[in-house]
Amino acid sequence: MIQQDINYFKNLDSIAKEVLTLLAQSIGVNTFFLSILNPIQSFIIKSFNRNAKLICEGDIIPYNMVYCKLVVENGLEPLVIPNLKEHDLTSGHPATKFIGNGCFMGAPLINEGEIIGTLCAFDIKPYDFKEYDLILIKSLAALISQTIILENGIIRDPLTGLYNRHFIYNYFDYQKDKQNDEMAILYIDLDHFKFFNDSFGHDAGDEVIKQAAGCLLQTVPGDSHVARIGGDEFIVLLHPSHCEDLMKSTQQSAELLLNHLSTMPIQINGNDHFVSASIGISFYPHNGTKMESLLTKADRTMYKAKESGRKNIQYYHPL
Ligand code: GH3
Ligand code: MG
Repeated sequence: MIQQDINYFKNLDSIAKEVLTLLAQSIGVNTFFLSILNPIQSFIIKSFNRNAKLICEGDIIPYNMVYCKLVVENGLEPLVIPNLKEHDLTSGHPATKFIGNGCFMGAPLINEGEIIGTLCAFDIKPYDFKEYDLILIKSLAALISQTIILENGIIRDPLTGLYNRHFIYNYFDYQKDKQNDEMAILYIDLDHFKFFNDSFGHDAGDEVIKQAAGCLLQTVPGDSHVARIGGDEFIVLLHPSHCEDLMKSTQQSAELLLNHLSTMPIQINGNDHFVSASIGISFYPHNGTKMESLLTKADRTMYKAKESGRKNIQYYHPL
């Protein structure tokens, strides 16, 4: 999630730049970088190279090749290696074999107790890191972690982990380069959701919302944006490719969504329950160019789906 949201984190970009500049003013190595990690790759989201361009923004490095992996394995304290060739953890490391020798210091970025990335200093020459360098990188990594947590809170719904209302309403601010592309806006409201709250309690209702969210995420094409904008209301932004027919691909995706959702068993107290949804659809830019108006149109259309007996799909029509 974090990795796919980096482009939407407005404050992180400027704070990361300032942090790397500050590190470079205090520590005499060549390279400083910020990486986001997953078990396969390390994504360099910001870098500062004093002279040689050793690690650059946008680089994607296999997880096994990066010293960042050692930071994750080291736990919550920074890992400090003044001489890569002489340290047990790095003397036989494939990266050390490749570069010859150097130094590395990395502090973990932590989100909800999980290490999601690293803030690092690196060079291809050994360097005697000072106690102050270690304190500095640890404090700045904490600052970056807090920025990521705050930015995440701005665009994500805490219950489901989906994007939230703020993200959808500001979608065009986040995706300025996508303003020429066609898009379908699906307004999805679960049918008779109150039944779950009233019959089994609010927590069971929350569980239904979470399972519906998971189902939507799994069903839509990979480049879609899925959001929860209220109680049992979800938005899916579908982005058909240029060669696809907008109407046809939207119909296929919406039918698949409805089908997967309404056939997904939801276990409550040992019994299987099912939930369907009503879907209203508007199209960008054909039905409007402002997100607020597109959402209003899709919402109104969703009510038509409710009036038509629920569990169906309706398209916005100006009349
Ligand atoms: P309809 O088919 O007309 O959509 O009926 P419905 O029962 O689904 O009713 P509606 O969509 O109007 O209401 C959604 C309800 O969701 C209203 C509110 O009590 C409940 N709700 C809102 N937020 C939450 C939440 O975070 N968790 C739970 N469990 N319930 C919520
Ligand atoms: Mg509902």
